[in-house]
Amino acid sequence: MSKTIKIDCPVCVSRNVFVIGAVEKLSCDDCGFLFTENSQLLTGKCLICGSGSFYYFSPFGLSFLGRDSVCYVCEAHYRNVQIDNPEPSFSEASFARAEQSVEARRFKERADHWH
Ligand SMILES: [Zn+2]
Ligand SMILES: [Zn+2]
Repeated sequence: MSKTIKIDCPVCVSRNVFVIGAVEKLSCDDCGFLFTENSQLLTGKCLICGSGSFYYFSPFGLSFLGRDSVCYVCEAHYRNVQIDNPEPSFSEASFARAEQSVEARRFKERADHWH
C-alpha cells in the first residue's frame, strides 16, 4: 500500500495527490506552491505544516473504505501513514485550537506570500 498525501493547495485551491517518498519536494501542480522541501522525513507531525494535531476521517463515513489521518491546520489527508494519536473524529474545539497555533500562522503566511 502506498503512502499518500492528498491536499488542496492553499494558494490556488487545486487538489494535489502525492505518493510519499516518490519525490523529495512536494509542490502544487498548478501554481508551484512548495508544500514541503523534504517529504522523506516522517516524524509523526504534518509534513506540510508541522502541526501535530490530526483526526481520523473515513470517506463517506464508511470505515471499511479505510481511514485518512487529517491535519487540522492544512487539511492534508494522509493515507497509510503512521500518525501519532489522531482524534477519533473531527472536533470543533481542536480545530479552533489548531487555528490559533504557530503552525497555522506560518502556513497561512507561506500561502499569502506565494507568487
Ligand atoms: Zn496551487
Ligand atoms: Zn498540516
